[in-house]
Amino acid sequence: MRGVIMYAPGDVRVEDRDQPAIVEPTDAVIRLAATCICGSDLWPYRGIEHVDHTPMGHEYAGVVTEIGADVKNVKVGDFVVGSFFASDNTCQICEAGYQSRCVHSVPMGSIGTQAEYARIPLADGTLVATPGEPDPELIPALLTASDVLGTGWFAAVAAEAGPGKTVAVVGDGAVGLLGVLAAKQLGAERIIAMSRHADRQELARRFGATDIVEERGDAGVARIKELTDGLGAHSVIEAVGTQESMEQAIRATRPGGHVGYVGVTHGVSLDGMELFFSGVHLHGGPAPVRRFLPELIRLIWDREIDPGVVFDLTLPLEDAAEGYRAMDERRATKVLLTL
Ligand SMILES: [Zn+2]
Repeated sequence: MRGVIMYAPGDVRVEDRDQPAIVEPTDAVIRLAATCICGSDLWPYRGIEHVDHTPMGHEYAGVVTEIGADVKNVKVGDFVVGSFFASDNTCQICEAGYQSRCVHSVPMGSIGTQAEYARIPLADGTLVATPGEPDPELIPALLTASDVLGTGWFAAVAAEAGPGKTVAVVGDGAVGLLGVLAAKQLGAERIIAMSRHADRQELARRFGATDIVEERGDAGVARIKELTDGLGAHSVIEAVGTQESMEQAIRATRPGGHVGYVGVTHGVSLDGMELFFSGVHLHGGPAPVRRFLPELIRLIWDREIDPGVVFDLTLPLEDAAEGYRAMDERRATKVLLTL
């Protein structure tokens, strides 16, 4: 089968890989309906994370082609979506709703789902079947549920977005934009998207943003305070993962408010004294997407939300290298790879 391998930073190739097979009796194998490139794939692409002949991709949706002897919850032929972490969905951490930190979790990035087929560990806990075979136009939306939608959703939940709340969103990548969508669905009264790109501002408004702030850093914080009677937002979604974005998120939150942080942090260190006097709740980490999958699939299936519009470039899997280039150069927000 064909799959994406990152040889080194900036060097993405599509090559023949071994056809996945059942290894553990709890595994399933799926044929991907489509796959995609994540903003977090840019960290190794830019040399910020180690990469060496690494199979890429952790987002997936597709049809089950094979199941192990112990798999009971999905069957061959089911269309399924799963999280970017495989999880048993039965341990105490999973039961508490933190499946991405399951005691048996397997990062799907270690499997590499930018490929025609993928082995899914812990299939019973990981995969959620759709009510039937989806219309082709629903596939991009279902694929977002695997990571970017689920992550934006978790960020909004962690930030306690809801009725009567003002939510600010730091980061205008796919996760930030879908954080806007999630905040809207959760009933937020006012949603401030922080973005300086016209196309992303437009998408943020389409997803429910009521205000746009173009300033960044301290100027961005000052603007959020201006819009909130000097208090700061009740809820702030942090969807970048840098020192500047994390500080911006904490400083834009009013005392007693909540920050939901889901940008994978790189080189971030927080000042203890500033944190102490901020009086904000910080909650985040790798999103437990599995917790939200049944609800997200229902919303997509019933066409109540259309997160698939975050894909603004579609390429065949064979052209994955161009997809990475386009995202790296910010010519694309998120790239769909078709099979
Ligand atoms: Zn678990």
